[in-house]
Amino acid sequence: MKRYDYVLVGAGLYSGVIAYLAGKAGKSCLVLEKRPHIGGNVYCEEVEGIHVHKYGAHIFHTSNKKVWEFVNSLVEFNRYTNSPVANYKGEIYNLPFNMNTFSKMWGIRTPKEAEEIIARQRTEIEGEPKNLEEQAISLVGKDIYEKLIKGYTEKQWGRDCKDLPSFIIKRLPVRYTYDNNYFNDLYQGIPIGGYNVLVEKLFEGADIMTETDFLKDRDTYMKMGDKVIFTGPIDAYYEYCFGKLEYRTVHFETEVLDEDNHQGVAVMNYTDRETPYTRVIEHKHFEFGKQPKTVISKEFSVDWEEGMEPYYPVNDAKNQELYQKYVQKAQTEEKVIFGGRLGEYKYYDMDKVIESAFGMWDRIKA
Ligand code: UDP
Repeated sequence: MKRYDYVLVGAGLYSGVIAYLAGKAGKSCLVLEKRPHIGGNVYCEEVEGIHVHKYGAHIFHTSNKKVWEFVNSLVEFNRYTNSPVANYKGEIYNLPFNMNTFSKMWGIRTPKEAEEIIARQRTEIEGEPKNLEEQAISLVGKDIYEKLIKGYTEKQWGRDCKDLPSFIIKRLPVRYTYDNNYFNDLYQGIPIGGYNVLVEKLFEGADIMTETDFLKDRDTYMKMGDKVIFTGPIDAYYEYCFGKLEYRTVHFETEVLDEDNHQGVAVMNYTDRETPYTRVIEHKHFEFGKQPKTVISKEFSVDWEEGMEPYYPVNDAKNQELYQKYVQKAQTEEKVIFGGRLGEYKYYDMDKVIESAFGMWDRIKA
């Protein structure tokens, strides 16, 4: 049996970065991936010449220069800027919440007018916001909360906004300028040629086994490496001994349409409660595609059950507490390191995953 310096379980960005850095340092890696392909959730499938983000829209954005330079050293990025629009029962609003949104909502023109309306609407919240609903109203007022936040958030998380932590909504910028850029980060874009180009470069020197479930034969695989980096769900690794961590998952209904431009934007959020999906992605717009056809994906958000793909960790107090129990167990491991969105049970953006992998590599390379 061949032995490696590292056995990497899962072939997403976290493993990819470790594989790349380990390779540069002359170390050998074996990658075990359950799916039939590498790339984790950034994997794209080509349909009608369009890169379809099979596991949901991924827009790379970061303010970390080191991360930006790293990914750009592997692949060039285009100038895509995420500017999704919200569709509330046919009314169209710009996102994130900015002067374009306020102007459309209230027929106003100036930042001062917007500030006054929001200040008036937020008076109903007393003291520090205690949950997402209070946080949202105190940030943008009741009208925007009701039309653009409540329905979308409750569909996405399957919970009442009063039962969700306020930090989720703090991800979104609120701006008193006419600026529809969804992110505040310094750098943003989509890899030219798609994410698979990036992923292939990351895993270039590693041995890869796809359709291979580490957990089904862990004794064998454990022996194959000096260290094991596990990027799957930490609770699954421990056979859910303390109970199951909760996730939200998404599923997609993807269609090819015989038209060249269906919705005029890559991401349209459906923010009412009744439309069953949360958003519609038109993939070609991530890369300014000129193909004669188009591919759209309707995104539905559902509660995770064993056997489904876990997407978003539900980082509420109950789950965090449970996660801490697993962390304590993990700290006693000599050979296994947990990392990435599922290994660390964190709502990570891609750049944060890369940052975290850089940090881990600095710790283990010695
Ligand atoms: N959100 C919202 N309305 C929108 C878009 C986002 O209320 O039209 C809120 C919602 O609470 C959501 C959070 O912002 O959970 C983060 O949304 P985003 O779409 O950025 O999350 P992603 O799934 O892209 O990571």
